[in-house]
Order: sequence, then structure tokens, then C-alpha cells
Amino acid sequence: MTNTDTKNGAPANLIKLYGKRDDALGYELRDFLKRSVVEFEWHELECDDDCARELGMKELENIRLPVVELIDGERLFSPTMKELASRLGLMANPSLREYDVSIYGAGPAGLSAAVYAASEGLRTVLIERGAVGGQAGTTSMIENYLGFPKGIAGADLAERARLQALKFGVEILMMREGVKAEFREGKIWVDLADGGSMVARSNICATGVDWRRLGLANEDRLLHSGVYYGAGASEAPLCKGENVYIVGGGNSAGQAVMHLADHAKKVTMLVRDDALATSMSSYLIDRIKEAPNVEVLYNSEVTELEGDETLGRLKIRKGEESESWADTSRLFVAIGGVPHTEWAKDTDIVRDRAGYLVTGPDLLKDGAMPPEWQQDRSPHFLETSVAGSFAAGDVRHRSVKRVATAVGEGAMAVTFVHQYLEETA
Ligand SMILES: Cc1cc2nc3c(=O)[nH]c(=O)nc-3n(C[C@H](O)[C@H](O)[C@H](O)COP(=O)(O)OP(=O)(O)OC[C@H]3O[C@@H](n4cnc5c(N)ncnc54)[C@H](O)[C@@H]3O)c2cc1C
Repeated sequence: MTNTDTKNGAPANLIKLYGKRDDALGYELRDFLKRSVVEFEWHELECDDDCARELGMKELENIRLPVVELIDGERLFSPTMKELASRLGLMANPSLREYDVSIYGAGPAGLSAAVYAASEGLRTVLIERGAVGGQAGTTSMIENYLGFPKGIAGADLAERARLQALKFGVEILMMREGVKAEFREGKIWVDLADGGSMVARSNICATGVDWRRLGLANEDRLLHSGVYYGAGASEAPLCKGENVYIVGGGNSAGQAVMHLADHAKKVTMLVRDDALATSMSSYLIDRIKEAPNVEVLYNSEVTELEGDETLGRLKIRKGEESESWADTSRLFVAIGGVPHTEWAKDTDIVRDRAGYLVTGPDLLKDGAMPPEWQQDRSPHFLETSVAGSFAAGDVRHRSVKRVATAVGEGAMAVTFVHQYLEETA
């Protein structure tokens, strides 16, 4: 498979990725490159002879798959994503000791906040634990974002936003994760997973949500080896001629279905309720119903996963009693998410029961502010219970969970950051 937009089949100077079909690291690297809008060619290897032939190497024991061949011909054997990102020049170190605003998460909310903050003169750093784009970056086609009548691939939208942020001087630190926050001396101090730390006068948490898991035996073992979370943007072209399954009845599941249906022989959608979610856009419902190679099974759920190295079959319970096995090598899970707010657990930041960050007027309980809020003023609309710490996008309690609202909240949070910085100057 060539994962490239190269027109007319002209051979471009591309990164090559060699690996076996269901290798989990191979999937992660493909997904990372795709989401980072790095063009690459995927070379699927069937057997050791293939490896030797394609890679021109005789010593098979020296070949640790997957192999990334960079444009200059250098080969990285079984690299970590961090190694790959670093070799592609996608990783940088913070250049300042202190920033006006540190933004965590480079999904639509974080990218938008970064663009507005830097364009309005704030010293801005954007910290992302994976690839730029967040959930939106995994989406094959966003059709309802204003200004793109033909839709836009999530990775393209993210790349445009990344370039815009860089243009305004945002420092983007990729492959870095905020794991612990402390608020003292009117600043936020954050420990990063790689041992570094970050200091800023204010911060915006835009860490979004992660995919909810099915909670089945074998799920972790088969992750990325037949079991995938999300829309399968990087996997769809590999599903040619296959019968694939998707769990979920909301918008993200619907988009995944339509994207996979363009490539797979048949797509079966397993929906727990007796209808597609009320949150699913009606244009998607119409398309799903019209697609000849899509079947929707209502009142259905996956109850078991089986496979040795890769997924081989899954058990489906339909209704109360009927259970049956289905052979498949690919299952996509799109059943909503849980917020990334573990880092806030030892702080005064108030979270709701599900872990979402509570902001502004939602902090009020029976007309009173919680004890964590220690200011004389009311919190700004997107401010958490710690002054100067804001939340935007899906991670926020009662957020709308759309690209446009995440973008809007990112921009809005910056306005409150300005007000906070003026108050504390
Ligand atoms: C498959 C799919 C299809 C969708 N389709 C549409 C659509 O068509 N239209 C629409 O409007 N919406 C759509 N959505 C919803 C939309 O993508 C989300 O609402 C939007 O991405 C939320 O943006 P966000 O920035 O708040 O969070 P996210 O997009 O979740 O981004 C959060 C980012 O934070 C990073 N992060 C998490 N924790 C940390 C940490 N501790 N340190 C550093 N970084 C961290 C994550 O890696 C991630 O990149 C879709 C979602 C999915 C999953």
C-alpha cells in the first residue's frame, strides 16, 4: 500500500515502512505517520524471504521488524515512535524557562488556543503526548466543519493548524506528556513524563478524551493486532476484500463505517441499542442505510475476542439469548471516551464523577463556590477551580464534543488568559 497523495503514480522520494500485516508497532508507526501527514509507502511482508528480498539483507536475524527507511536511505529497525519523531525533526526542547501560557494537548482546542495566544503576543508552548490533531486527526473526513463544503480529512485540518501555530511562533513539543501539575507562586509547574518540567504563568488544559475500551479478555493483547480504537484512518486501505466489524452507534462509529465501507468487502456495525444514537448526524444515518456493503446489527455487543497473535474471531451477543462467533481479523471500537485528567488528581482542580474538568459557573453548588476556589472574584467561564488554569474542548465538563466547539473554546480560553494575566500582573 502506498499511503501518499502522489499524483499520476510518479515515484516520489518517500519514507518506506516495511512490516508484517498485524504487527502492533507497525500499526502505531503507520498511524503516527498518517496523523503527522508524513507521506510514506507501506510494504507488507509475508515471510522472512520477503524481508530479505525487499530489504536486500541476507542476515535475517539482523532484521527487526518493522523497519523504517528514511529518505536518505538510513534504516531504523523496530524504532519507538519517539525515535522516529526525533529522526523526522518533529521533536524539540523548550527554549524558554517560563511561558505566559502552557497548553496541554494539540487537538483542535489546543491548536486553536495556541494560534490565538501566540498571534496575540503571548509566549506560548503547546505540549502534545502523541501526534498533532487529537481525535480529529484520526478522522478520515470531517464534513460539518465550517468552511469546508467538501469536507476535510482530520489530519489535513490538524496540519494546517500546526503550520498556522508555527507561523505565529508557538513552540510545539511533541511526544511529551504532562503527568503532574502543581500550582504555587502564581505559576503552574508541570512534570513531563520524560523527566522534564514546564513552568508557565497560566495554562490551558485541552487534553481531550481517550477511547473507551470494551473491557474484554484478550483486548489489550490484540490491541493494534486486529483490535483498533477509532476510525481506522490508517487501516482502511488495508481492509480490501475483508469482512470487518465496528462497535458503536454514534457519530465517530458512523464515520468509521463509511470510511471502511469504501475499502472492505463488508462492514458490520454492532449497535448496543435498537437504533443508531440520537447524536448521530442524519446525513450519516442516511449513508449507512444506503450503503450496499454495510449491515447494522442492533441490540448487539461483542462478548469475547479470540486469536493467537492477531484477532481471529469474535463472539456477538444479539438480544438476550442468541450468541454466535464471527470470523474476522479486524474490529474497530468507537464507543466514546474517557477524559485525560489523571494529572489533576492531586491538585485543587475540581473534576466531575467521570473525570471531566469543571469550569466557570458549573463550579457553583447550591449557589456557593467549592472550597478549592480561593479567589474573591467569580471564575471566568472556562476557568477551573484553580485560578489561571483553564480548560477547553472535550475534556471540559458538559462540553459539546465537536471540532468547531473545541476550536471556539480554545480561542475563548485565550481571552480569559489575557484577563487573568492582567489581573495578576
Ligand atoms: C472518529 C471521530 C470522528 C469525529 N468526527 C467529527 C466530525 O465529523 N465533526 C465534529 O465536529 N467532531 C467530530 N469528532 C469529535 C471531535 O474530533 C472532537 O470533539 C475534538 O477532536 C475535540 O478536540 P479536543 O482538542 O478537545 O480534544 P482531542 O481531539 O481529544 O485532543 C486532545 C489531545 O491531547 C493530547 N493529550 C492528552 N493527554 C495529554 C497530556 N497529559 N499531555 C499532553 N498531551 C495530551 C492527546 O494526545 C490529544 O492529541 C470526531 C471524533 C472522532 C473520534
